[in-house]
This record gives sequence, C-alpha cells and structure tokens, in this order.
Amino acid sequence: MRRAPVNKIIAFSNVDGPGNRTSIFFQGCPFNCLFCHNPETIHMCVSCGACVALCPAGALSVGENGAVKWDDQRCVSCDACIRACPHDASPRIRWMTVDDVMREVRRSAPYIDGVTTSGGECTQQYAFLIELFAEVRKLGKTCLVDSNGSFDFEADPRLLEVCDGVMLDVKAVEPAWHEQLVGHSRDIVLKNLDFLLRVGKLQEVRSLIFPGRDHDNEATVRYVAGKIGDACDYKIIRYRPFGVRETCQRLLGEDTTDEAYAEGYARLAREIGAKKAFVV
Ligand code: SF4
Ligand code: SF4
Repeated sequence: MRRAPVNKIIAFSNVDGPGNRTSIFFQGCPFNCLFCHNPETIHMCVSCGACVALCPAGALSVGENGAVKWDDQRCVSCDACIRACPHDASPRIRWMTVDDVMREVRRSAPYIDGVTTSGGECTQQYAFLIELFAEVRKLGKTCLVDSNGSFDFEADPRLLEVCDGVMLDVKAVEPAWHEQLVGHSRDIVLKNLDFLLRVGKLQEVRSLIFPGRDHDNEATVRYVAGKIGDACDYKIIRYRPFGVRETCQRLLGEDTTDEAYAEGYARLAREIGAKKAFVV
C-alpha cells in the first residue's frame, strides 16, 4: 500500500485556505528557498544519527538496520533534533497510508470545510494526493494544494481533476533573483501560473517582498498582478527573518519588510487590476 512521509497534521487551521481546514504537511521539497521558515521539511532524514543523543526524552534511537527511529509517545516537541540536524531534515516523520491520514481527517470532518496539503512540497507525493483527495471528496469536503509551483500541473492533470484549487507561490519573476532566492529556475512556476489561470484552478498567489529590493519587488508584482487580475487573492508577503537559516540572514539581512513599504506594492497590484491584493 502506498505511503507518504508526513511531517505533521494540523487538525484545524484558518490560515491555509478559506474556512476551517485540516492541513497536512508532507516532508521533502525540490526547492531550497533561502528564506524557508521550515527548513527541516526540505530533505529526508539520512539517519546520520547526529540528533539521537541530543533528545532529552529518549524519543530517538537507531534501529537494527541503522535507520533512526522516532517514538512519538515519548517526544516532548522540544525541537532539539531539528535545530541540530545538519541536513535540513527531521526524524519526526510518519510514513502514512491514505487510510491513516483519513482516520485523522474524519475526526475533524464535522468541523472543517476541507483539507489543504502543504509541505515541504506536497506535489512530490502527487499519486498519494490523488488517492487522498478522492477519499476527502467522499466526505463532501474541498481539497486545496499549497504549492511552490515546481510540479508540472499541465503535464499530469490527474491531480487537478480531484483538487478544487492551488495556492501558488510566485516568489519572484526576475530570473537571477528567483534562482538566488529559491535555487531553481522560475520557468516552471510561471508556466503553472498561466496554466492554472487558464483552467480556473488558481485559489491564490503569493509573492515575497524584500526590504530594499525595489526593482525585483516591482517586477514580481507587476508581472503577477498583470496576469491574475481579479481571478484570485494575491497575497503580498513581508519578508520576516525570524526563524530562517543563518545563511539567509547573511544574504538577505535581518530587517523585516516594512508594512507601509509592502502596502505600496499591494496598492500597485490593485492599480494594475489585481483587486484582491493585500499584505500579510
Ligand atoms: S522534538 Fe522530540 S524527538 Fe526531537 S529532540 Fe525533542 S523530544 Fe526528542
Ligand atoms: S534528522 Fe537529521 S540529524 Fe537526525 S538522523 Fe536524520 S539526518 Fe541525522
């Protein structure tokens, strides 16, 4: 039976799409964003063992096959393992089947509007998502994908057939700036922006605004706003250095994007036609 690495499940969330939703975070991401606030979700644990002795609760051990094991009953969620991991990974992963996940979704079902899958990058588990969403839909709930845009939605449209919409990151559009921020080309992201718009599956778009990057910020906002118009929400996200890796703070600085500065870009987006642009 198919299993996927689940980093965590939040039974009730009101920040992962419209209404009250169960959010499922999968482990693993093909991007490596400088400003990632959850870098422990980027890579899979390689069982190097560096975190095992640091666990104050005895929740980590090395199995006979050399793999690091996590005991969720003992874990006190102190995050010492995550802080110590040199691989941007976490030992606190559950390899779950669709039935396992649905057991948790059913518990919250009476109180939620739907399910949102996130990460990491949840589309890395797209075959799992297709099976999961089919089950969620049987409960009459909506299914949203929170994506960094690295998955080619057009090349394999089966996921969109069972999904109500995609919350898409378009972090930047200037090619060099995108590569520096994310470690990958922007091309697939922009292709997805066009395709999801065309098929009416764009739930929202999010872009990052950085202090002092006037040219790059404006290029991103002009591009996205010119594309989406009032088709969906456009979230202008302020860069916040709290919780990011040291390399990020060295390269991007320690200043949070000023609210008034970000609001200027939201205003610009609305003037261009993205009527549902706002700062978060
Ligand atoms: S978060 Fe859990 S597994 Fe990790 S060090 Fe703390 S108690 Fe141990
Ligand atoms: S979580 Fe990180 S530090 Fe711990 S065993 Fe895995 S790779 Fe090593």
